[in-house]
Amino acid sequence: MKVIVIGGGAAGFFTAINIAEKHPNYQVSILEKSGKILQKVKVSGGGRCNVTNERSLPSELVKFYPRGSKKLHSLFKTFSTEDMTSWLEEHGVQTKAEADKRMFPVTDNSQTIIDCFVKAAEKHKITLRLNEGVTQLEQIENQWKITTSKQEIFADKVVVATGSSPATWEVLEEAGLEMTEIVPSLFTFNIKDERIQDLQGVSFEKASVKVVGTKLAEEGPLLITHWGLSGPAILKLSAWGAYELAKKNYHFEVLVNFIVAMKPEDIRSHILSYKQSNPKRKVVNYPLFDLPKRFWERMTQYCEVSDQTPFGELSKKMINKLVEELGQGRYEVNGKSTFKEEFVTAGGVKLSEVDLNTFECRRFPNLYLAGEVLDIDALTGGFNFQACWSAGWVISESV
Ligand SMILES: Cc1cc2nc3c(=O)[nH]c(=O)nc-3n(C[C@H](O)[C@H](O)[C@H](O)COP(=O)(O)OP(=O)(O)OC[C@H]3O[C@@H](n4cnc5c(N)ncnc54)[C@H](O)[C@@H]3O)c2cc1C
Repeated sequence: MKVIVIGGGAAGFFTAINIAEKHPNYQVSILEKSGKILQKVKVSGGGRCNVTNERSLPSELVKFYPRGSKKLHSLFKTFSTEDMTSWLEEHGVQTKAEADKRMFPVTDNSQTIIDCFVKAAEKHKITLRLNEGVTQLEQIENQWKITTSKQEIFADKVVVATGSSPATWEVLEEAGLEMTEIVPSLFTFNIKDERIQDLQGVSFEKASVKVVGTKLAEEGPLLITHWGLSGPAILKLSAWGAYELAKKNYHFEVLVNFIVAMKPEDIRSHILSYKQSNPKRKVVNYPLFDLPKRFWERMTQYCEVSDQTPFGELSKKMINKLVEELGQGRYEVNGKSTFKEEFVTAGGVKLSEVDLNTFECRRFPNLYLAGEVLDIDALTGGFNFQACWSAGWVISESV
């Protein structure tokens, strides 16, 4: 049995290794168009590789996949995050979970994962062909003809794990696979606004951000950056709203509540009661709601509260403005930026093309798909890699 895996990334390597481990008599090769393997694994998680997540219940995991979601339930039942950490342990890699449940190799170095995969690939005599991009895929009777930049190869089984490469999407479309529209996911919002200018690094433990005129709203930590707003609340919005925001060409307004635990009327009552009990304190010196001092100073200034104004002299107009700015500040987003260069694509080969129990194409027997090439993507947290590992495992069982 000759198996060709196209793509030497996370999904391709993991699938190839598991196929070779389970089927020692199969001849397994990886074709990689570039001169390097596992490039995204190398830079992932800021060079530490957020390899998976501590959450393990399929019902919990599926909530982190805007594309895929509940359809992935049985996939995670078959091979979950716990199975991945056990797999790594069996292959000599210890992992650890951080407080937010993201998991990393204990070495905090992505090279550990790469070394593990390379060692396993060598052990099982997987052939690795670098600088050999696939340009055409054709089914000829029971076999697949793979045309590369160097040769034509015939294989009994083919696994496509080519990630988000537009040139390769064309190859797959020509082979007859249907794709969804492709748009970016996991990006941050560009906002030029005097209220947040030069406040980069200021963060809020829990804020809520709503896209005006849509149902898109998310809560979570929020970070002011050089170029606008970032942090989990924004990344979640960018993932869940990937298509809606692309349609708006990344120009829209957001409403930000910096004190998410409080409704505007509660914010007002708190300011009023503080005014009553501390009339002499200067507003600028006493940030309320545990807000970062630099942000509080900027907000009070923006709401026309002078440096000398004590709480006792806060006018109704000033309080109204503060309540509005803190509870639902309106900001104009003009464009997007990548988050620490960490981004994924929403969209890919339609999930209806594959049987999610095997990841084999429904219309093309012996053709399997794994990883980002499929219309599956997740929030940050190790979930994108987990989708690669789980699909790779299922394919290795099925071939
Ligand atoms: C900077 C960054 C950091 C990230 N950090 C994390 C993280 O910490 N945790 C997490 O879960 N996710 C992370 N992600 C997302 C994660 O890296 C991807 O979801 C994952 O790498 C997808 O794996 P893949 O194998 O499907 O695709 P890829 O890793 O992109 O691999 C595809 C491979 O196929 C090759 N290829 C493409 N076309 C062809 C062709 N025609 N012929 C032959 N080869 C071809 C490509 O050259 C590439 O090597 C990060 C992404 C980025 C960009």
